[in-house]
Amino acid sequence: MTQPDRQRDLLGPSSSLVPPLYQASVFALPDLDALDRISDGAEPGFIYARDAHPNAHLLAEQLAKLEGAEWGLICASGMGAISAMVLPYLSQGDRIVASNRVYGRTSQLFSQELPRFGVQTTFVDVNDLDIVRAALATPTRILYVETISNPLLRVADLDNLAKLAHERDCQLLVDNTFASPVLCRPLDRGADLVMESLTKIIGGHSDLTLGFLGGKGNGVRKFAQTATIWGVASSPFDCWLAARGLATLDLRMRSATTNAAALAPWLLQQPAVARVLYPGLPDHVDHQLAQRMLPHGFGNMLCFELRGGRDAVNHFFRNATGVPFTPSLGHTTTTCSHPATTSHRYVKPEEKARQGITDGLIRLSVGIENLDHIQSEMLKGLQCAS
Ligand code: PLP
Repeated sequence: MTQPDRQRDLLGPSSSLVPPLYQASVFALPDLDALDRISDGAEPGFIYARDAHPNAHLLAEQLAKLEGAEWGLICASGMGAISAMVLPYLSQGDRIVASNRVYGRTSQLFSQELPRFGVQTTFVDVNDLDIVRAALATPTRILYVETISNPLLRVADLDNLAKLAHERDCQLLVDNTFASPVLCRPLDRGADLVMESLTKIIGGHSDLTLGFLGGKGNGVRKFAQTATIWGVASSPFDCWLAARGLATLDLRMRSATTNAAALAPWLLQQPAVARVLYPGLPDHVDHQLAQRMLPHGFGNMLCFELRGGRDAVNHFFRNATGVPFTPSLGHTTTTCSHPATTSHRYVKPEEKARQGITDGLIRLSVGIENLDHIQSEMLKGLQCAS
């Protein structure tokens, strides 16, 4: 019995409740005609996993639906998805306008990698629409923003940024990682493409590295081609894990967002804390905009600054071990990070100072635990941390 026959024979009329894991790098084909039909998209099927595989396909379908996208692509990481998103638009001499508050590695991609290929990026304050309008007066291929910026949680006005971009024949590309499709669907706001780091809230369990890219219309082939040629294909097992995480995304995001909304004002009352940044706080610089952009809640991410700088942060991390120092976000339970030495480690000191990424700043990824438990764990680090 051949392998395909054996597979069909094994389950009989039954089927597995959860999607099977197809941990395969290559697929057997009956003949050349079948290969042609699959390659041309005339028949479903798979050939080589770097090009496409069933677990990525299933996950992309689910995520595309959540994002309101017509197609989706799974990449090896969030950075892989960002690369697959921007590269097809760019040739030597092209220009990007990007938010000057983006994830550190994204900033490096635009400021260090792409210039080597003759692509320049102008970084601007995307919360000032006049500045964006002026920047787009010079021909620009891409306007790039994060819905909620990493780490300082500035909110982007996607509705108006999309209008400005499209007036200039420019594409609005959005990193929606901090919001997730539970809180915001950038494509509904006029964005041309959306990406998510699935490593974070969507995977939700800190056990996979993946990215998603989605859009409308029939552009998927050009992005899929870039993804396979640049080799940012995903692992089937990671896709399988992400699909499992996705099943609880809505519950987790809503519960973590409720916790974060309660923690932000509580943190403000702690003597060791100098400031709290959370879009749900009335004094957050983008609070009004956040109410429009994030009508379902302000997210699970917040930042607070300890009065005692780096020493106080070390004290906090050493004592508040129940909210561990783990330089990522989106885990089921609450974790902390330190943007100045992790996500923004390679950003120039003067740029960190401009953004307000200080040595005392802690970024909290709030989880779904009981709120009292999070508070008591945090108090272990906040007492005498100033
Ligand atoms: N976008 C944001 C906002 C991030 O915070 C990160 C990673 O921290 C990424 C993209 C990159 O994602 P990944 O680590 O999955 O490549």
